[in-house]
Amino acid sequence: MVGSFHRDTWVEVDLDAIFHNVASLRTFLRKETAIMAVVKANAYGHGDVQVAQTALEAGASYLAVAFLDEALALRKKGIEAPILVLGAVRPEDIQLAARERITLTVFQQEWLEKAKQWHQDGPPVALHLKMDTGMGRLGVKEEEETKRIVAMIDEHSAFSLEGVYTHFATADEIDTQYFSFQYENFLRMLNWLPYQPKWIHCGNSATSLRFPDKVFNMVRFGIAMYGLTPSLALKPHLPFELKEAFSLHSRIVHVKRLLPGEKVSYGATYTVEKEEWIGTVPIGYADGWIRKLQNFQVLVNGVKAPIIGRICMDQMMIRLPEYVPVGTKVTLIGKQGDAQVTMDDVAQYLGTINYEIPCTISYRVPRIFLKKQSIMEVRNVVLDGNRYV
Ligand SMILES: *Cc1c(COP(=O)(O)O)cnc(C)c1O
Repeated sequence: MVGSFHRDTWVEVDLDAIFHNVASLRTFLRKETAIMAVVKANAYGHGDVQVAQTALEAGASYLAVAFLDEALALRKKGIEAPILVLGAVRPEDIQLAARERITLTVFQQEWLEKAKQWHQDGPPVALHLKMDTGMGRLGVKEEEETKRIVAMIDEHSAFSLEGVYTHFATADEIDTQYFSFQYENFLRMLNWLPYQPKWIHCGNSATSLRFPDKVFNMVRFGIAMYGLTPSLALKPHLPFELKEAFSLHSRIVHVKRLLPGEKVSYGATYTVEKEEWIGTVPIGYADGWIRKLQNFQVLVNGVKAPIIGRICMDQMMIRLPEYVPVGTKVTLIGKQGDAQVTMDDVAQYLGTINYEIPCTISYRVPRIFLKKQSIMEVRNVVLDGNRYV
């Protein structure tokens, strides 16, 4: 293995796939619609700066994250593009945002009043006003509050209203009734503004792919950038091919023959029935490969092999179709020949959505970045408490 880690378990992030997904969206959308690449949560567990750079090369012009720390981490790593923080930022941190040219979301008057006290002058902070059209998370709902917020921004030289946006709760569902309700609400709310800010946006991945004529002049492209479909229901209805960027691999470190009656792993829950070849794989729940994945399948030499016995913190055992040597590659998410375990397979097995899976694979697993079929860079992403190192 290359690079600065010494472990035969790794994630491959195919940046060419990310490039393909963003470039395809670029062609699909009207030219005047800007692409904001959503790289929150370390780019959905893929790697923030590598994904951000690739998205910008492929036609994105804005980035979005959830927290100020994520935006600051990107600045530290040399990203110059505008970055919007989608979530709440402490009013007392507004100077920091101003210095680093980070765009913030304003979603209530109370926040703006406090932020104003912390930012009397100095470089203006660009703000995007968030409207709650029916998601019930962050956003302004009242006409009077909206008007007061805009007036406050306009009379304060250290703020500027650069955008207005909302977020849909059901854009990934076939039934469009609630989506339409929210969309109509947004149209109505836009009329409350005395003028149109530069950017108006409402489209997550599902909206961008399904309703490209309803996204105003910017989309916030998240899950589909990573090659994942916003929901299983939308899979047959995609306007272009999405390529999955994330795959997870390991190598067998121990191969042994077990005899009938012998047991495997904690709790001795698995009993060998007939003579079996068992492989030990150095990945476990501390890597985000959680215990619920017991009895799920991985790929060895293009063949499915079941996970047997309990998954441990750092290791798990699989039943091999036949003897294979130590060092044989195991693919937990991704392709081997014609065989494939997709992110959706893992998500369905766990009863969750694909979004959650790459986010859950912990930063103990190094990410390797592939670009133009070659290893471009190896970066061990380490999370030290809440800070990106
Ligand atoms: C995460 C997020 C997005 C991206 O959504 P996808 O479904 O991943 O495309 C867009 N907007 C907001 C406000 C978000 O929090």
